[in-house]
Amino acid sequence: MSSQVLPRCQCCQEVPAEGLYDGIRIQGILFCSECCHRIALSSTDSFFYQRFLSGVKKALFPMKY
Ligand SMILES: [Zn+2]
Repeated sequence: MSSQVLPRCQCCQEVPAEGLYDGIRIQGILFCSECCHRIALSSTDSFFYQRFLSGVKKALFPMKY
């Protein structure tokens, strides 16, 4: 049994379909391809956009948030 824990998306908290090779990473924090695709279609005042943004902020500025 592997001790490696599959990464979870910072935004939707799901393990991405492609596992380690899915989505993008910012400072080692994963954003799955589904969320990356969805963010491109979301308006800036949507709940999803704000949640994604706060995830990105946490990834970039872990001391502040
Ligand atoms: Zn996601």
